[in-house]
Amino acid sequence: MLRTVKAGKETIEYELIQTARASLQLRALPDRLRLFAPKNYPLRQADQFVRDRADWIRQARAQLDAYRDREAERFPMTDGMSVPLEGRQWTLRLETAPRRSARFEDGVILLRAPDISPDAVRGQLRDALIERARARIEQRLAHYIPLIGRRPGRVTIREQRTKWGSCSSKNNLNFNWKLIMAPPEALDYVVVHELCHLYEFNHSAKFWERMARYQPDYAVWRDFLRSGWAHPYN
Ligand SMILES: [Zn+2]
Repeated sequence: MLRTVKAGKETIEYELIQTARASLQLRALPDRLRLFAPKNYPLRQADQFVRDRADWIRQARAQLDAYRDREAERFPMTDGMSVPLEGRQWTLRLETAPRRSARFEDGVILLRAPDISPDAVRGQLRDALIERARARIEQRLAHYIPLIGRRPGRVTIREQRTKWGSCSSKNNLNFNWKLIMAPPEALDYVVVHELCHLYEFNHSAKFWERMARYQPDYAVWRDFLRSGWAHPYN
């Protein structure tokens, strides 16, 4: 539920998410502010909670803006720029066209759109990469599920700031779409890793033994992802 509060001269919009939880948590995401609250939490108190944190919200936003500016400088989103994808560099090509479309072919990402300004292109490229990540992750799951022998619950592809993937106690799996930028083996590592958690909900020796059955050189890709390899696109 979207809500708006006034804090002095400022108007703050936030998304209220009520779940089975005991406390409040406010999170500033690049595109929105979210307040997680217990079910049936009084709306006026939720609004007040946000209002009381106006200073924090301002700071968090300034940091996110600065981050975005730095990214924009590094990735100017121009025709001919190079985009890391599946472990290699692709070339971005831009064309104006009446409708938005994206094509991946021979190391070229061709984006067509009525608006090819940097901001529009950034969003379009992101959408296209998320779609590609979804297709790839689904394909790798379809490959590994019969081998590993357990089926996950819900599978979600989303943006996670600090994690490549996760497995919930309900056997639902999450994957970070930015894995599509890493080499395919690194993406496989995360897929196999999360599927192995359907047996072992820990990182015990038994867990790693199971991993090794499906990806013998898993340690290479684990270290690769841990070494601070950063998806350079935001
Ligand atoms: Zn794990």
